Amino acid sequence: MEKKECLEELKKKVENCRNCSLGRSRKYVVFGEGNSESKIVFVGEAPGYYEDQVGKPFVGQAGKLLDTLLADIGLSRSSVYIANILKCRPLGNRDPLPEEINACKPYLMEQLKIIQPSLICTLGRFALISICNKSVSITAVHGKLIQAETYNIFPLYHPAAALHQPTLLKSIKRDFAELKEIISKPMPKIKPEPKTEIKIPEKTNVQEQMKLF
Ligand code: SF4
Repeated sequence: MEKKECLEELKKKVENCRNCSLGRSRKYVVFGEGNSESKIVFVGEAPGYYEDQVGKPFVGQAGKLLDTLLADIGLSRSSVYIANILKCRPLGNRDPLPEEINACKPYLMEQLKIIQPSLICTLGRFALISICNKSVSITAVHGKLIQAETYNIFPLYHPAAALHQPTLLKSIKRDFAELKEIISKPMPKIKPEPKTEIKIPEKTNVQEQMKLF
């Protein structure tokens, strides 16, 4: 099956999802959209009010800013893929809860498995931490190419935050200019993260093993 068809199949499944409580309050599932063949995927946090009304990601003021930032570096919505960690809107636009992220993240992982991007641009803190699967400070890493899990990741501030803070707006513009540079070159190969070696103890009898506790 083509990537586009695989995404359509997955979308049908997600549209019926009630794996967390957000499934009861949503109007529409916001699955994600864009070019299934894109090498760049943008990942945000969760749908807001406007996204929930129409079932599309980044359609409010933050979406307009994202469109402008993309256009500034020669990209467009139709040339990249855009999705969120959560597919349904948390009421009142509150932060996602850990159990909601755990319930919904497998869908994003499946989307990434299908699209196989060479770069993931995270938008905001939640997307960054979820994709890296560990605590990372967005202040420290925004605008820098990092690697975590099996991905090249380019962390960006969330456009909604940039709308309210002029310093973040300047920062996100600079980071998009850096992104333009980065995507003009080949992506670095993913280096495997160092794993802690688990030492298997040599054979001991039960009594010796008990002494270990
Ligand atoms: S947020 Fe995700 S896990 Fe929760 S109901 Fe929506 S699609 Fe399902």
